[in-house]
Amino acid sequence: MDAIPEIDILWITAGLGCDGDTIAMTAARQPSIEDVLRGGVPWIPRVRLHNPVLARENGDEFVSTFRRAAEGQIARFILVVEGSIPNEKNKSEGYWAAFGTDSQTAQPIPTCEWIDRLAPKAWAIVAAGTCATYGGIHAIEGNPTGCMGLADYLGWTWRSYAGIPIVNVPGCPVQPDNFMETLVYLLQMAAGRAPMIPLDDALRPTWLFGQTVHEGCDRGGYYEQAGFAEEHGATSCIVKLGCWGPVVQCNVGKRGWMAGIGGCPNVGGICIGCTMPGFPDKFMPFMNQPPGSLLSTNAVTTYGKSIQALRRFTQDSLNREPAWRRR
Ligand code: SF4
Ligand code: SF4
Repeated sequence: MDAIPEIDILWITAGLGCDGDTIAMTAARQPSIEDVLRGGVPWIPRVRLHNPVLARENGDEFVSTFRRAAEGQIARFILVVEGSIPNEKNKSEGYWAAFGTDSQTAQPIPTCEWIDRLAPKAWAIVAAGTCATYGGIHAIEGNPTGCMGLADYLGWTWRSYAGIPIVNVPGCPVQPDNFMETLVYLLQMAAGRAPMIPLDDALRPTWLFGQTVHEGCDRGGYYEQAGFAEEHGATSCIVKLGCWGPVVQCNVGKRGWMAGIGGCPNVGGICIGCTMPGFPDKFMPFMNQPPGSLLSTNAVTTYGKSIQALRRFTQDSLNREPAWRRR
């Protein structure tokens, strides 16, 4: 059998962001980054990771890999972009984000310039986290940076030379296993063992973002019975406190934050829609009841209260032993 070729992962964290997606990814277990780098996942190429937060090299030594890639000297690489992409054309001087320095001028190299140089040579590009996918918090209305997501920057119909669209894995931060599963899928593609990655209209992997938070929420049973919390700390459904879970596509309710633990509404945190292209503007003000849920919770209340009463009645009966067991 032919040897499976090697591949480099060039990870830029120099968009506007907090490096939180890199940190989150280190908590992945399905698989872990260590599994991938040590060859513990079968049938994928040998991987070399170049991430500034995790690298042993620094300064020019670290940047040299990116220079070589930009010059076409790295045969095949996946570019991972973390952080929001600023508009460097909306001002007369200075820059919003940069990484490394130009060896001729000693001036910082803007992040946008790196993306312009690397994107045409990348085998695939992954936007990691909400900032890189759709702009995130930095792209809020009225911000001075003109920030945007990678697909807004390169174009939503952009394709790599291998014909692969931008792959968006949103989340603030990205759910670690969602990122690693996506990466492993691409590595399987690189090894010729998987078909084109299935993506939705927002360029998210369909198997990860096809269901709503509500569909996987531990509190769904309360919703159905109109058990709506009026204050924080209750165990019931928190839609009236501002949860957008019924319309937000995210698997964190089912999958948890890391190692199956947490998941925003499961532990009492309202879903604010961080995996959605409309985040944050369309979900604000946070903590207010979503307007659409006014209608649905009213409708559910009529049905839910009667169902709850009937279930209590049945439950009372089931909590008593059958009469024939008594003397
Ligand atoms: S807490 Fe949110 S996601 Fe969970 S059941 Fe209520 S509305 Fe749905
Ligand atoms: S449940 Fe909502 S707030 Fe939490 S990660 Fe998913 S989309 Fe973001």
